[in-house]
Amino acid sequence: MASLDSPRDSPRPPARRASLGARVGVLALQGDVREHALTLEALGSVAVPVRRASELAGIDGLILPGGESTTIDKLTRIFGLAEPLKDAMRNGMPMYGSCAGMIMLADRIADPSCDQHGNPQQTIGGLDMVVRRNAFGRQRESFETTLRFEGLDRPDTAGDDGPGTQRREADTVQAVFIRAPWVEKVGDGVRVLASIPAADIPDPGNDLPAHQLTPAGVARIVAVRSGTLLATSFHPEVTGERRVHELFIRMIRGEA
Ligand code: GLN
Repeated sequence: MASLDSPRDSPRPPARRASLGARVGVLALQGDVREHALTLEALGSVAVPVRRASELAGIDGLILPGGESTTIDKLTRIFGLAEPLKDAMRNGMPMYGSCAGMIMLADRIADPSCDQHGNPQQTIGGLDMVVRRNAFGRQRESFETTLRFEGLDRPDTAGDDGPGTQRREADTVQAVFIRAPWVEKVGDGVRVLASIPAADIPDPGNDLPAHQLTPAGVARIVAVRSGTLLATSFHPEVTGERRVHELFIRMIRGEA
């Protein structure tokens, strides 16, 4: 929409790359809260740590960070946040989950961890998909790659980097995978935004069960969107990558 500069008296200037304003909560029970907050603030948004249900009232969207999904699950229930989070989602609050956060937004986990009584970990859900935890193998706990990612176009900010600025290729992001899940199956309403081809997955050796090895020619789903929900297997926030957060803020603002 806002592809031209607004007249001086415009009450609402168009979104600029340097200032993508929104109040975005970051679930701050466990995980890499600070990195998400810094990325949001670098984009001109306000990051609001969320530890209790009442704090959901003042935000426009919520990020569920990476960490450990079993711990985040336990803490959301202990802090009385699980039901309020589901309510907020039902009422349309945009949410973005990275890594453990992706697991928290999945309707189903292929291999949930169980507590000592045999109760499987729970999720908030919302995304009609099955995720597999630690899918790329533990022995390679971390790797980084460049991924093609759909939907990053920003027609309203094209050219903002100024003349002569080297721009990153429009449709790629820098992605770090840390004991990451992949998405094993998606329902009809879930759009795949990024997949990682077998050739870019580090060789896990012989430690993975056969069903987790990725045959040549196959790609694993690592980013999805459905309506106002976004999830990535990887952490964009630890490399200085901002484009996924930018997309999320544009989703919050109804611009993507
Ligand atoms: N393996 C973790 C889990 O199951 C996710 C790891 C991460 O968020 N970096 O929750």
